[in-house]
Amino acid sequence: MHEDRFFDPDPTIRRHARALYEETARLPIVSPHGHVDPRILADDTAFPEPTALIILPDHYVLRMLYSQGIPMERLGIRPADHRAAFEQDPRRIWQTFGDHYHLFHGTPSSAWLNYQFAEVFGIREPLNGASAARIYDAIAEKLASPEFRPRALFERFNIEWLATTDAAADPLESHARIRASGWGGRVMPTFRPDVLFRIALPGWPGELADLERATGKPIPDYAAFIDALASRRAFFRSMGATATDHGVEEPYTAELAPEDAERLFALARRGQALAGDQRAFEAHMLMEMARLSVDDGLVMQLHAGSLRNHNVELFRRFGPDRGADIPVAAEYTRNLRPLLNAYGNDSRFRLLLFTLDESTYSRELAPLAGHYPAVRLGPAWWFHDSIEGMTRYRQRTTETAGLYNTAGFNDDTRAFCSIPARHDLSRRVDANWLAGQVSRHIFGFDEARQIARALAYDLAKDAYRLGV
Ligand SMILES: [Zn+2]
Repeated sequence: MHEDRFFDPDPTIRRHARALYEETARLPIVSPHGHVDPRILADDTAFPEPTALIILPDHYVLRMLYSQGIPMERLGIRPADHRAAFEQDPRRIWQTFGDHYHLFHGTPSSAWLNYQFAEVFGIREPLNGASAARIYDAIAEKLASPEFRPRALFERFNIEWLATTDAAADPLESHARIRASGWGGRVMPTFRPDVLFRIALPGWPGELADLERATGKPIPDYAAFIDALASRRAFFRSMGATATDHGVEEPYTAELAPEDAERLFALARRGQALAGDQRAFEAHMLMEMARLSVDDGLVMQLHAGSLRNHNVELFRRFGPDRGADIPVAAEYTRNLRPLLNAYGNDSRFRLLLFTLDESTYSRELAPLAGHYPAVRLGPAWWFHDSIEGMTRYRQRTTETAGLYNTAGFNDDTRAFCSIPARHDLSRRVDANWLAGQVSRHIFGFDEARQIARALAYDLAKDAYRLGV
């Protein structure tokens, strides 16, 4: 990897970019939003082998290979039909990956993967069909050694905070084990109640039953439902949570009259809620979550604009998170107006907004973040967590929202070993963007140094109220 990778070729910008990156390269990692399974840190057993660690949990890798005609079965994804055959030899899956590694050129996946190979595993040759078997063996050998256990890597990656994402009814057993173990790594849960608001889905009664089990009380009516959610939030806070997370296709918010909320809940309990009922209920529950956030201080994250499981057949056969979630246009200004008018002026409330619809950055999101005291703009997310995507984010939001209404970086990953790779890429892209500002004398180098540190570290802690 080139030491000046991702920096502008202009010598003045490059010189500033290098110097600014030097300021942030060794700062601890704050990872306040992600999807690492906490069990790996609770158990702290060796990762099994390279394919299970690097390929299987990475939906970016799966989607690219699938898009070029490689079936999920060949990538080791088990079909729902248990009689159907699928590849179970991790070395053969890795060879398929190596044979097709050129597909990732120009994508952030290759930046993340190359960093992992070189910096995490010390591999000195590029991955391709010819080197795949050697690289597999080299990584497998490393994974068997104590320095590559999850907690040792957590410490080597210099992670100061790591948030997981957990269902509202989750008993947080892994988090409890981590806390009881005496190990000092800070791993905290995030409260994600989405499925409980999707009252028209066939799985909803089961989700409600899980919530009843978690709280140890029946939930016969809407008031009991809100009590149960509030008590789970309190439990998550007691386990270190500082945030909630909500994923919606459109960020529609609207408050229902109490009798209407009760009526929809009763309808759902009878299994009679329809799509329109669910839309109204979800919009109302976002209002309720904001209301509870004012009380308990949990930061509310709202992710909008992803149409999940677009490929119906693929979803039926292989389940979610296989790379078939596709962005849709989203509208924030009108949709969030009820919520922001109710809570947006309250400094006890904090709302972090994430989008997959880049066109809204300059038109809606930067102006909202640049006005409402409660709003911060989350980082360039998912398809835009890329070299050009993060650059466009700065270009489209800074002049309106400023830099301090943004929430720093988060890696949003379930691929544990990619965490340092993603933070390194973000720090380089921000250093390069700041270097351009300095070169044009928009602000000076000393200001840029402070901003670089804020973007890489301080803003994430502030936005998520970590260590407060
Ligand atoms: Zn996420």
